[in-house]
Amino acid sequence: MNPRPGVQREAAMTERSLFVGLDVGGTTIKAGVIDESGKVHGRVVIDTEAARGQEHGLRRMEMAVREATAKAGVELTRIAALGVATPGTMDIREGIIIDPPNLKPWKNVAVRRHLEGVFGKPTGFQNDANAAAYGEYCFGAGRGVRSMALFTLGTGVGGGIVLDGEVLEGEHSHAAELGHAKVEVTQPRQCNCGQRGCLEAYASATAVVKRTCEALAVDANRSSRLHDLALLGQDLTAQAVFKAADEGDDLARRIVDETAMYLAVGAANVMHTIDPELIVFGGGMMGAGEPFLRKIRGFLREVALPIPAERTKVRLAELGADAGFIGAAACGIRRWRNVSS
Ligand SMILES: [Zn+2]
Repeated sequence: MNPRPGVQREAAMTERSLFVGLDVGGTTIKAGVIDESGKVHGRVVIDTEAARGQEHGLRRMEMAVREATAKAGVELTRIAALGVATPGTMDIREGIIIDPPNLKPWKNVAVRRHLEGVFGKPTGFQNDANAAAYGEYCFGAGRGVRSMALFTLGTGVGGGIVLDGEVLEGEHSHAAELGHAKVEVTQPRQCNCGQRGCLEAYASATAVVKRTCEALAVDANRSSRLHDLALLGQDLTAQAVFKAADEGDDLARRIVDETAMYLAVGAANVMHTIDPELIVFGGGMMGAGEPFLRKIRGFLREVALPIPAERTKVRLAELGADAGFIGAAACGIRRWRNVSS
């Protein structure tokens, strides 16, 4: 006799596998527990304490796994696999962080081997921006598409590409460094990476503020309301620049338009290289929302070839600050499936 469907479903729910994802940043480790549908069952944020060295950093990662699991109200035995996303130079295939600028003084840290040794579970490992892209692909703005690229706009510009379900890692773990695509060759701005003319030097939140300050300094008739913000001693933020542009401030509007244009150039370069189905923009600066996205789409029609300009979907990211750990956990799910099959 067949069991009643409802009972069967309930049993399946209690037995379902859970996964922990870690998004290791220079300041904090964000961690969360998700199930195979991408639902978050608990999340925590702890300090990375990177300056205390890599051995300590690995202990913090272990603690993040345990705290996230406790927050989800489950035993560690319910966790089928782990995933870790980290910034900086790395060997993705080997699961090693090499020399991360945001995690000094760490060098050559075998993150995956360490966590697999401690917890005895399959452990995915990925670059943080790639992980965010994979998270959006599996459970966010990219659900249902075959291929997508993600730009994350914050203090820097991160990038990730997923093609037919595969994260594009490249031969040297340096694929999809979309923030360092060159978008300007005439008097190019200095980028944090040491090169010049990178998208990040124009379109990160930090770069928007810097470009605005420079424009204000040469704004002879001081017509922009952003001068008042500076006079009041308030920090000029990218958010304030976008708000002023919305309210009709000419200088702010020019900065926002130029930012959208640079992002369109960056997106067009990706479109002309891999021709994805979808391009997603996320990160703190995309709080500017759909109106800013419309500007980017408008410039795309000027700088991209007609068919991709017309057909490529361009959307806002959906997972917010959770994208990194959700994507990391999704890498764990993938590794678990490969191990189990
Ligand atoms: Zn750069």
